[in-house]
Amino acid sequence: MLKRASLKMGLSIIVVIVLVLSLISCSQNVQVSKENEIIDEHVSNGINGENDGNDGHMSSNNDESSSSNGEDNRAMEENFQEDEGMLDYDLIKPNEAGQIMILMYHDIGDIEGEWVRTPENFRKDLETLYNKGYRLISMKDYLNNNINVEAGYTPVILTFDDGTRGQFNVIEEKGELKLDPDCAVAILEEFNRQHPDFGMASTFYVYYPVPFRQENLIQFKFEYLIQRGMDIGNHGYNHENLSSLDAKEIQRALALNVKSTQQYLPGYGVDSLALPYGAQPKDERAAYIEKGEYDGTVYHNKGVLLVGSNPAPSPVHEKFNPNRLPRIRASQMNTEGVGMYDWLEYFDNNPDKRYISDGNSNTVTIPEDMEEYVKKEALDHRQLVIYKR
Ligand SMILES: [Zn+2]
Repeated sequence: MLKRASLKMGLSIIVVIVLVLSLISCSQNVQVSKENEIIDEHVSNGINGENDGNDGHMSSNNDESSSSNGEDNRAMEENFQEDEGMLDYDLIKPNEAGQIMILMYHDIGDIEGEWVRTPENFRKDLETLYNKGYRLISMKDYLNNNINVEAGYTPVILTFDDGTRGQFNVIEEKGELKLDPDCAVAILEEFNRQHPDFGMASTFYVYYPVPFRQENLIQFKFEYLIQRGMDIGNHGYNHENLSSLDAKEIQRALALNVKSTQQYLPGYGVDSLALPYGAQPKDERAAYIEKGEYDGTVYHNKGVLLVGSNPAPSPVHEKFNPNRLPRIRASQMNTEGVGMYDWLEYFDNNPDKRYISDGNSNTVTIPEDMEEYVKKEALDHRQLVIYKR
């Protein structure tokens, strides 16, 4: 007992010392480090690179334990609550100009493949993200910079392409219809039941004529998703390669997708596009991936998603380009060093690159060395808070 009491006292003294030291360091005005600039430029180049860009920089500096981050975050969270609203920057290390992973899934199925994740592996992905302090936000909230994640946590976005049956499958059991417990939607719901703070925001990029491959259940499935805060996005009318179409055909493909979805969900805002094959139309046709009209249906994509292979910038970062948002393949096969687990390791080793929330959607909190990368007009009504890290 005595031992424990003295240990507690020792810890309290350490906490007091750390707080005093942090106050002193906060009040000092130190020059922005050159090293940070260089690292950031390196990562920015990665973001700007082409789809197959493999920087090869992620495998270095692997000394740190990769399992410690989730625990660190929980410790931060407790500390934050004890301080009754006072954000301890040294513990939380908010960086709302940091990077965000947009994960790309295709099918969920029995046999693992480059474009198929087994239910077990999908559950493992969610568990890993959760334990490392990631929390789901929707694509819509990312595009609108309406990121609501608790202080110390990192937003992550789930996307599913192609509207496969493995993403959302309904089965019959004893004469009753129910969700296949191994489809993505059911797995997400089950995980969220066990970890309600994880969320289940996801966007399903579907094409026609039969999204999720059960013709009689399209209406049911769309309503089911929307009622649970999940979203439906545009993936062309019939998975067209948009780079090989003319302006009118591009608008037809994208407008017919929106029109079809709205036949099931009147007035629903389909406002982001995952490019089929990641193929972008060049020249003046490029404008039609964002906005267009066909046969009376108008569409406006606030975000356009590529296929690979880097984390995306924060919505307030100068590199944020909603018409070219990179995604990361949520796969462990042929990922060429730029798959989900490669980037998780990268962020474990480079926590200063990661978006970390300040827990307040009215403020954008960044370390001083990130200030030069923030696009001031992207702040909108939000207050910019800068601290020294
Ligand atoms: Zn596709």
